[in-house]
Amino acid sequence: SKETTGNSYHFYSDGMNIRTFENIKLENALYKALEQDELILFYQPQINYKTKQFEGVEALVRWNHPEQGMISPDKFIPIAEETGLIVSIGEWVLTEACKQLKSWHNQGYPLKSMSVNLSVRQFEQNNLFSIVKNVLEKANLSPEYLHLELTENLIVKNTELTLKTMKQLNGLGINLAIDDFGTGYSSLGYLKNLPISTLKIDKSFVQEMTKDEAAITNTIITLAQNLNLEVIAEGVETREQAEFLSAQDCYLMQGYFFSKPMAADDIVKKYFSYNSI
Ligand code: C2E
Ligand code: CA
Ligand code: CA
Ligand code: CA
Repeated sequence: SKETTGNSYHFYSDGMNIRTFENIKLENALYKALEQDELILFYQPQINYKTKQFEGVEALVRWNHPEQGMISPDKFIPIAEETGLIVSIGEWVLTEACKQLKSWHNQGYPLKSMSVNLSVRQFEQNNLFSIVKNVLEKANLSPEYLHLELTENLIVKNTELTLKTMKQLNGLGINLAIDDFGTGYSSLGYLKNLPISTLKIDKSFVQEMTKDEAAITNTIITLAQNLNLEVIAEGVETREQAEFLSAQDCYLMQGYFFSKPMAADDIVKKYFSYNSI
């Protein structure tokens, strides 16, 4: 049933709770957010700990809500995925990130990569490959600069479409990485059959310094080395963690120890303007 109070509606039905109602409100607001440019990208540096080089960045979306301030993706990405809105958001993220890297290149900042997160839902569209290709062409960005981060649940699904799209993306020269590696339920057998270039060690393993987590981290690094894959660690917060990783020849790192995700301007200020006051 539906009741009207003023111009707002209240829905009542079994199994529909406040939380769902909150989600519906958020979903509607999210549609508007995308149209009204309330989404913004932050960028988190990826560092080579050995050479101290600034290699690239990961693009991380935020919602700059007019009343609620900055909303974290953990709050709205799940809703965007449920509703399918992630497809439009994902395309916006990809476009924005590629334009940003091109602009940094044009200004003479030599970043080697832009990592972008892709949702499983984006892979379920049959035109993902042409969307990505188009975005790169429009931004005039060479495909090898683009790194796409996929999660293991995509691999678990392992449909023909997924595999075909991954092969097409890889064929174009795009680097594919498995995000949050080690947290999923997939078997390792897929690793040698998929066009993957990079494993990204999940922060839960990096941050726990107990014996078990250290063993998992070590196993992932060795696995990557044996399969000739790049390995990068996320969530590095302390020097000990960085030292522990580099002692095992894992040099690519990302985390608060180096930098939090920042707006594009702040990346430039912190990393590229050597003679700023
Ligand atoms: P993720 O892809 O695993 O991204 C890493 C998350 O860890 C980011 O959270 C980042 O800010 C955070 N992080 C980085 N360094 C550290 C650290 O040293 N310590 C700790 N505790 N955290 C650290 P964020 O930005 O809140 O993003 C959360 C998740 O939202 C991402 O996890 C990703 O799954 C999703 N997400 C973000 N942007 C996008 C997007 O554009 N598309 C899609 N599909 N998902 C996105
Ligand atoms: Ca990621
Ligand atoms: Ca992660
Ligand atoms: Ca994640």
